[in-house]
Amino acid sequence: MRIGMGFDIHRLVENRPLILGGVKIPFSKGLQGHSDADVLLHALCDALLGAIGAGDMGTYFPDTDPQWKGVASSRFVERCLELLSRSKMRVVNVDLILVAEQPKLAPHRRAIQESVAQSLGLDSRRVNLKGKTMEGLGPIGEGEAISAYAVVLLE
Ligand code: MG
Repeated sequence: MRIGMGFDIHRLVENRPLILGGVKIPFSKGLQGHSDADVLLHALCDALLGAIGAGDMGTYFPDTDPQWKGVASSRFVERCLELLSRSKMRVVNVDLILVAEQPKLAPHRRAIQESVAQSLGLDSRRVNLKGKTMEGLGPIGEGEAISAYAVVLLE
């Protein structure tokens, strides 16, 4: 068995859609980034790559590469899964944390969980998602960014 962890953070800015775990969330701002800036899937990809000892997302999907500009981050997950299967590994379960002051994640939690499970080809009971706030503290607490953490177990 192998374990991996991932973290990511993106700035919240005007005139961008907010995509979390592959789900478009209605909100006045979105995350800044080269791809769709899906902070949750980026943390997940880093956890997957970490578990197989394959470095990090920057190695495979550099933000200087035009082929990744504006792409859906589910493409990154697909690529990570290819690397996993090449290593003869598969995902047992994933545990995810999204840290955002706004918007409230509770109404979208189930949809995000199912979307992530689908991109991993897993039963949604193997994907857990927790929404947290920073209690108003720091840049995330002040609504300037959203961050995410991911832990994965592979067999
Ligand atoms: Mg990122």
